Amino acid sequence: MTEVKLDRIGKSYGSVEAVQQFDLTIREGEFLVLLGPSGCGKSTTLRMIAGLESITKGDLLIGGARMNDVDPKDRGVAMVFQNYALYPHKTVFDNMAMALKLQKVPAAEIAQRVGHTAELLGLTDYLQRKPAALSGGQRQRVAIGRAIVRTPKVFLFDEPLSNLDAKLRVKMRMELQELHGRLNATSVYVTHDQVEAMTLADRIVIMNGGVVAQVGTPREVYDHPADEFVAGFIGSPAMNFVDLSRDDTGGWRSDCGSLALPSLPMDTGPRRRIRLGVRPEHIEVLPGATGADGMTYTANVLLDELLGADALLSLGIGDVRLLARVGGVDHPVRGDTVTIRLNPAQLHAFDLETTEALR
Ligand code: ADP
Repeated sequence: MTEVKLDRIGKSYGSVEAVQQFDLTIREGEFLVLLGPSGCGKSTTLRMIAGLESITKGDLLIGGARMNDVDPKDRGVAMVFQNYALYPHKTVFDNMAMALKLQKVPAAEIAQRVGHTAELLGLTDYLQRKPAALSGGQRQRVAIGRAIVRTPKVFLFDEPLSNLDAKLRVKMRMELQELHGRLNATSVYVTHDQVEAMTLADRIVIMNGGVVAQVGTPREVYDHPADEFVAGFIGSPAMNFVDLSRDDTGGWRSDCGSLALPSLPMDTGPRRRIRLGVRPEHIEVLPGATGADGMTYTANVLLDELLGADALLSLGIGDVRLLARVGGVDHPVRGDTVTIRLNPAQLHAFDLETTEALR
């Protein structure tokens, strides 16, 4: 188990700054997830840790030692790739044994380590097969096994589940969680899938345009997103945003006045306008119109989508559109009139210029 320190690391490709001032200590045994949209610099950061990409600025320390100029194979890291990167003509055993053979580990020890890892991953019966005769999930397990046999100090995962179908992804996600529980190795995991990030991470780093937007536990980034970008990226379906202006009474209202809030719990300072954020799962939907008072509003159901356990309702409150997530049994349907209630404690607000969250 090893600590990984990124000391204001940066990467430029000519004039393009792919990663800027990435400053973070990844704790021993921590499962850290780098999350963000395509092109935000996640893979570049991971590849800098792996040594597959040079570091333009700052220092990388693994277990206290500076690694900027150390060969990838001498960093004590093992990487699992999205495309598995298995040797097609070698058996599962030989794929997993490869790195140990290169290190001239005695054959008996190789057999023992590969055998033990295969058992851990449920691959014992497949050791003599070639990758073409395996399912996608089994191939990804071999790729993970190949990293485990090397007993690295740090595991690096580059979108390892992206090539699997949705059902298998959920299964492999759980296997990865269980595996981490057993190995407890420091891990850095790149994904653009916020559900993967929320379920696997001890801490999530959300990146936006090469810059770290927020670092926190899944709970922290969901409950207290640092800015509008994080608020919109974490949570599915995404948070609703509505611009509000302060009225003469100190309350807040949407442009046509259909959504009016007597007060907001956060410190809005002298601002005359803010952006309100409401998660779909935080809108309480009551049947029928019970009249508006305070934080209760009459809404029309414009669309309804049954997902199974849940349903999504597209609601119109005058000119304001909100997406709400409700239980899938006897939910309101298109054409219904409902009453919605907002809980002040679950509302978010953002500065319109800086996009920062108001607390
Ligand atoms: P992500 O993994 O989050 O999708 P990347 O780390 O791959 O993003 O890329 C971050 C940024 O760096 C992108 O704008 C990308 O176009 C740029 N980039 C990545 N690799 C290169 C390269 N070899 N040359 C120039 N620009 C690159």
